[in-house]
Amino acid sequence: MPDIRPTVGSGALVLNATYEPLCVVSVRRAAILVLSAKAVCVADGEGILHSARNALPVPSVVRLTRFVRVPYRTHVGLSRRAIFARDGWRCAYCRGPAETIDHVFPRSRGGPHAWENVVAACARCNHTKGDKTPAELGWRLHSLPAAPKGIAWRVLGHRAPDPRWADWLDLREPEAA
Ligand SMILES: [Zn+2]
Repeated sequence: MPDIRPTVGSGALVLNATYEPLCVVSVRRAAILVLSAKAVCVADGEGILHSARNALPVPSVVRLTRFVRVPYRTHVGLSRRAIFARDGWRCAYCRGPAETIDHVFPRSRGGPHAWENVVAACARCNHTKGDKTPAELGWRLHSLPAAPKGIAWRVLGHRAPDPRWADWLDLREPEAA
């Protein structure tokens, strides 16, 4: 196994042989795929990786040389980080920096812990809202909460995408109203 010390900490996007995005792996893992001819580099990142015998550009996007069949996870897990990522780390009520998770219809009144009922919120809005609904306060949500969908979510989860991956992932998010 080559001794590869990545110069950058970000991962690499792995595409299937058909160019379909599959997952994100460490730069080191991507380099090993390329060095073992299991993948070819499609887009370089920044910097050079050095091993005992090789020097190769940091891979940013690699494509597998053989097609792999992947069972897809269609459901995005509901986690604190995933909720923040979906909502862009902004409060659903005032658009300030989000620090907490709010249940739109309060849990104390039977609101479910589900994608459709959770939003990122700042501490102030969350505290002010308490166990009331937005309607009772005359507040409006900037967008209707929903489970995240799409290829970017399946591949990236809550990870921030590298701009170099945009050609392969549909990264155009619908703008919040
Ligand atoms: Zn707020």
